[in-house]
Amino acid sequence: MKVGVLSFQGGVIEHLNQIKALGHTGVEVKKEKDLDDIDAIILPGGESTTIGKLLKITGLIKSLKEKIESGLPTWGTCAGMILLANEVEGQEEKYLQLMDIKVKRNAFGTQIDSFKTHKVIEKISKDEMELVFIRAPYITEVKDNVRILCKVDDKIVAARQDNIIVTSFHPELTNDLTFLNYFLKGKWMK
Ligand code: GLN
Repeated sequence: MKVGVLSFQGGVIEHLNQIKALGHTGVEVKKEKDLDDIDAIILPGGESTTIGKLLKITGLIKSLKEKIESGLPTWGTCAGMILLANEVEGQEEKYLQLMDIKVKRNAFGTQIDSFKTHKVIEKISKDEMELVFIRAPYITEVKDNVRILCKVDDKIVAARQDNIIVTSFHPELTNDLTFLNYFLKGKWMK
């Protein structure tokens, strides 16, 4: 498979490394042409305001939105989740608006900005996964068409809707390829 990673800022290389480790080809996406023949795309973690600004300045936001709307399997990690959300709490600025979720940025509070935990996400694997949170958002509201995949401390940290999946945490910062494999196999979309 050819898997695109939006490459303006943030944790791009970690995703590209995991894509390669699974035997697929990773492609940096910076302009419209890069979207042409990819089979899936990952919107990485980073700073959503920076990535969002660059999406707008370059005009990539329009073609990326159309491509995702046409069914491209899409995974947003952390800042990527914020870019896909219909609404961001306390913030006027909106980006792709492709998922019926409301998100809260830096939502786990300043003292525990970053933490790790372990959890079984039943729909994904019977084995525990390491979940890494870095100044992470969580989902505060979902519409009926959104399926919740995982909660931590009662907060929604993974969900899906049609061809889009989002995680507050960073599987690409672990040695575990389970999540990427689950995303690329695509059974979750059916
Ligand atoms: N706090 C960042 C934001 O709001 C997201 C952090 C991350 O992607 N690790 O954009």
